[in-house]
Parts: sequence; structure tokens; C-alpha cells
Amino acid sequence: MNLPTPHSAFPGAVWPAIPQAPAAALLAVLGQLAESQFMTDEQLAMVRRPQAEALMDHAGAQLPFWRDRLRAAGLDPETRNQAALAMPEWNERWASLPVLSRAEVQSLGDQLRVTHLPNGHGVVGESVTSGSSGRPVRIARSTLDYFYWQAFQLREHVWRSRDLSGKFLSILRDDRRELIDENIHLRTMADWGPPASVVWPTGPSFLLDYRSPIRALVATICELKPDYLCTFPSLLLEILRLARGEGIILPPLIEAIGVGEASPPELAGLCREVWGAPLASTYTAAETGAMAYQCLEGGRWHLQSEKSIIEVLDSNGHPCAPGETGRVIVTPLHNLAMPLLRYEIGDLATVGAGPCPCGRSLPILDAIPGRARDLLMLPSGDLRPPYYGHAAVMKVRSIRQHQVIQTSRNHVCFRLVVAKPLTREEVDHVIKSATDALGGAFGVSIEYVDEIFRSPNGKFAEFERSFDFSND
Ligand SMILES: [Zn+2]
Repeated sequence: MNLPTPHSAFPGAVWPAIPQAPAAALLAVLGQLAESQFMTDEQLAMVRRPQAEALMDHAGAQLPFWRDRLRAAGLDPETRNQAALAMPEWNERWASLPVLSRAEVQSLGDQLRVTHLPNGHGVVGESVTSGSSGRPVRIARSTLDYFYWQAFQLREHVWRSRDLSGKFLSILRDDRRELIDENIHLRTMADWGPPASVVWPTGPSFLLDYRSPIRALVATICELKPDYLCTFPSLLLEILRLARGEGIILPPLIEAIGVGEASPPELAGLCREVWGAPLASTYTAAETGAMAYQCLEGGRWHLQSEKSIIEVLDSNGHPCAPGETGRVIVTPLHNLAMPLLRYEIGDLATVGAGPCPCGRSLPILDAIPGRARDLLMLPSGDLRPPYYGHAAVMKVRSIRQHQVIQTSRNHVCFRLVVAKPLTREEVDHVIKSATDALGGAFGVSIEYVDEIFRSPNGKFAEFERSFDFSND
């Protein structure tokens, strides 16, 4: 990628640039990440270990909850130093540390928050998970943790070879919007904003609040002609469906970027078909920042293993083999404000195998089906990702929005917003594809609705179970 020359701190010293403090620090981290992305698993585990130990020692010194857990696992400083652990033993002890559930984080609250941060870690802010089902999780985060997140955001620009001089449009929630009416709410900014614009000169960016009719959003896209569009995958799907259904020619786009939700596997294909543009979907969470990015060459997700220790475990708590889908357990390494060691974030992921054509050796995920709490419950009570014949629904041109609700252990209902009612053949097609994909054990019905609402933060649950998870 041809990155522009960074901003220089001194007039008359243009190239090579001497960046000023925050940019210099970001570039220094980015440079180290450029090396670590080619390390073997063993090399990476070795260079990362001192950071994991710094986090554990800080947690153990300040919080009784972690002191007890770390001691029981043999990972407190005294036991560790006496044993002079080789890496395999270290890993074994790490794996014996109990998984921390969301419910524990909610109930323990302040017992997981430190009172003192080391020098330079800055002040403590808070990230709140969307919590569309159940209570939200509140995570204290340090300024330094945000700084690391920014360095990884820069890495994604580099991986995706983005043209920083392009126009960048985000369609997300704009909290500055006060009046919610039929009009669009658009803000124009001179550059892409931090972190990219801290380091490099960039083109302009735009923030379009998502709370406007879909037609108005599409008209704004046609007017602005952005090079990049960043939005929720479910909203991108609505845009593509409207454009396809009504023959709207969307202006050329370099790349669509999906954030905030899991992307359905067929969305990338539809984006290429309708808009001629690739889709990059990032795997991030409010608790942790970036967890996986898609490389341009291989199209699969590489774990951001320098930022977090990410494990994918099967139902027995063992690491999943390539091809298997399991629960994501994450340890963010740089947030000393609220250390989370082996936190079960509530997502599922499918482990992939290398090598990747991009040459990077960071571990691979083949798929990120999304939130574990949005799983389909089989009549037996077992759970699995909700494959319900997504491709069939995508093919029906008059469908503008869809949502699948599991109403009981043997029934699912498709809620559809349509431009016109489906033909008999289309109904049969959707129901047959869904029945087949669901394994024949479910009755399938269709319900037409005028609108399907998003949660206040703009996210959209494409699949939901309407009956109680815990009591069933
Ligand atoms: Zn790759």
C-alpha cells in the first residue's frame, strides 16, 4: 500500500517526516505490529507473555478476586517465579484459570475495577455493551487501552490498502442529533478523524445518522459519492435490496465496511453483485476493541493476537480444531483499569487453518456467526447457529427487510417488510429452503410487517428467540 507521508512536527522537515508525539507513538506500535504479524504461534506467545504477566500481576496485586484465582491456577508471581515455567506449562496453567462469564462481570461490578493505574495509563472511561438481550455489561477502560485500539484501527487501514485521500461515509448513530424526523442528518468533517488523521493527511469524512428512511439514506449516498461506506451489515443489506429492487445505480464504491454486527455470509456476494464493491467486516466488541480483521488477500479473519489472547473453546472447554465452531474467550492485554482474564464474551467463531495467501501467520477464523445467545434451539434442547436458508431470502427481490423469530422449540416465523407481497412460488421457495436448512424439524411461517425496528444504538438482531432461553 502507498501510505502518504505522515504529518511532520517541524516546518521545513517534510520527508522523511518527524511526527509529533501521539502520531509518533501510534507509528511506533504499528511498526512492531508489522513484524509480529509474521511470527509463528510460539514466537508470538513468547513476546506476548510478559504483557500477560504484567496484566495478571497488576490484577492480583489490586483485586482479591484475581489474587485468589491466579494463586489457585499457579499463576501468581511467587509460584510462577519459583517454577521458572516453560511455555507449555505456562499454557497449561493459563488453561486452568476459570472462564469469567458475563453474569460474573455484571454481579461482581466494582470488585473487578482497580483503584490505581500505573503511570501513563491515563484516566478511566467506560464502555457499555449494547445488551439488546438482557442487562448491559459495563467495562472500565483506560486511556492507554483506547490508544492501543487506535493503533489497531490504523493496522486495518493498512491491511485493506485503503486510499486515505478518499471520501469516507459512516452511516451510524450520531448522538448529536436532537430532532428525529423524516429529514436526513448529515455532518461533514474535513478529515477521517482520529486515529488516521492524527498520523496522515486524509480526505473528508461524513457521518450520516441512520435514523432516516432508507430511501433518504440511499439518495444521500448517490449525492455524496463516497469511496468508502462504513455501516451495520443489516443496513447495508437494506441499501442493497432497495437499489436492486428499484434499479437504482449506486455510485462507484471502493469498499463497504461492516461494523457492530456479525455479517451474514451471503452479504459480501450481494454487495459485489449489486454495488461491485468488496465488503470488509471487522470483529470488534465494546469490551475489547478489535478482535479480528479480514485481510484483503485471503478474505478470512485474522485474530488480533497482539491485543488480546483469544481462545475458541468447545463445549468441554478444549480448544476447537480447524472447522469447529466454539465459544470465544478473550483476554484484553492492555486494559489495566478492569483486567478481564479469560472472559467469555458471548460470541461464537469457527476456527480456520493456515496458511493464508497474505503471508501473515496470525491465527485465522473462517466465520463469526455472532452472538451465542442468538442460537437456534433444536427440539432436543441443543443449540446451533441459526442457518435458515439465508441465500433464498436474499434472492427474493421484493423483500426489503427480514427478521427470523424462533417462537417455540419447533417453529420459526419469518417477519418480512416487502415492496409487494410474495408470489406463491416465492413463498414456497422461502419456506422450502428454510425447512431444509433447519433440518426438517421446524414449522415455518411468514408474517408481513410494516417495519422492523432497530435497537437504540442502531444494531439489528436478524435472528431472535422469543421464548425464554434460561428457563427452557
Ligand atoms: Zn490473510
